[in-house]
Amino acid sequence: METTHLTTKQLSENFTELKPPMSAREARVESTRCLYCFDAPCIKACPTSIDVPTFIRKISTDNVTGAAVTILEANLMGATCARVCPVEELCEGACVLNKDHEKPIEIGRLQRYATDHLYAKGVQPFKLADKNGKRVAVVGAGPAGLTCAGELAKLGYNVTVFEKNDLPGGLSTYGIVVMREPIRVALEEVEFVKKLGVEVKTNSEVGKDISADELLNGYDAVFVAAGMGKVPDMGIPDEVAEGVQEALSFIAETKLAEKEGLERLQKLPVGKRVAVIGAGNTAIDAATIAARLGAERVTIVYRRSAAEMPAYDFEYEFIKNEGVEFRFLTQPVAVLAENGRVTGLQCIRMKLGEPSTDGRRRPVPIEGSEWVLECDQVIKAIGQEKLVGLFEMLGLETVNGYLKVDGSLRTSNPNIFAGGDCVRNVGEAMTVTAAEDGKIAARSIHAQLSQALAAD
Ligand code: SF4
Repeated sequence: METTHLTTKQLSENFTELKPPMSAREARVESTRCLYCFDAPCIKACPTSIDVPTFIRKISTDNVTGAAVTILEANLMGATCARVCPVEELCEGACVLNKDHEKPIEIGRLQRYATDHLYAKGVQPFKLADKNGKRVAVVGAGPAGLTCAGELAKLGYNVTVFEKNDLPGGLSTYGIVVMREPIRVALEEVEFVKKLGVEVKTNSEVGKDISADELLNGYDAVFVAAGMGKVPDMGIPDEVAEGVQEALSFIAETKLAEKEGLERLQKLPVGKRVAVIGAGNTAIDAATIAARLGAERVTIVYRRSAAEMPAYDFEYEFIKNEGVEFRFLTQPVAVLAENGRVTGLQCIRMKLGEPSTDGRRRPVPIEGSEWVLECDQVIKAIGQEKLVGLFEMLGLETVNGYLKVDGSLRTSNPNIFAGGDCVRNVGEAMTVTAAEDGKIAARSIHAQLSQALAAD
């Protein structure tokens, strides 16, 4: 693999946020289109119940800071969600203007306008409760962990977040492509949570830098929001050859490089012909990055058909315009390598058979249909393993590898709560659902520890 042949100007264009920010004038004009509906469906469609008409009305009256406060009261990850939420399927999809075949209000961009305004001012607008002496530990500084930590800090708790990576922010920092969310936004969000009084300890992994006993005995409650583990092996020959990489680390490299500047981005290696395995949103993101780094040919290889793709429909439409090719009903059976470097991907054609337990039709290989996809880079986007080791260390019960929780997000240990991807065995894993988990857990922890405080 070589570094990109693209100029810094081309890279700058390729890695700019897809949706441009709104000017003050645009935001005012757009906000006055809102009907400020009673019983607004856009609020109901938001998993964190942001009071959309109220924040839009505040923008229309030039109270942009007030608009941001309305957003952040409901969702501390409001700046990320403004960029990454599938708004077509949530608030904007529910906007009443759709019924009249009018363009729905651009709620996502208005939300971004308001939160960006607040972060640019660098103020922390919330009134914080007096410290109550109770200590809460949070495992994982992604959207669920940061939300829970921030909400509890507002209520007077001493909260420490333990994050195993160098930087906090979870997928917002490392996993969402630059064109949807630059790393700067994710880190601003972390700084905002820190301003609420939250302590964030990075390079702090449970079982390595802090023991399970220290967590369980040193804190009044624990919230586990550790996300998911590593990408599993495919179990095919030569999958460790040079040029095989997992999608999230590929995306993270571009996030960190963009933070340092376009020259750093220009030094990233990328294949001429790239094969991406999988067809979820992460696969789409990795394929987009490869194309925008200058790969000549990017092919997504997926063992089922387009109808079974886990990626959002709008992501599929988007990637088709990036010139990325799809090979559906195709299963990789071996990485081909010469002198330890990838030269191709041996594949076999598939057909769909009987439905499996998840209701989707099972892909079955067609005998004798092997073929070779020539490529010099292979990117694996085939999901992530569950953090079974961590759950065992904490002595917690699981269901299908995810943490078992009740409606209040309490685990099998009454002092440990959990949320985000490590409990997401039903429904979609989105930043906004992780943020809502953080809010629910904070309320549950507060309810539990308030009783203890009253009894003290
Ligand atoms: Fe405004 Fe649309 Fe929400 Fe009604 S549904 S309050 S028009 S954004």
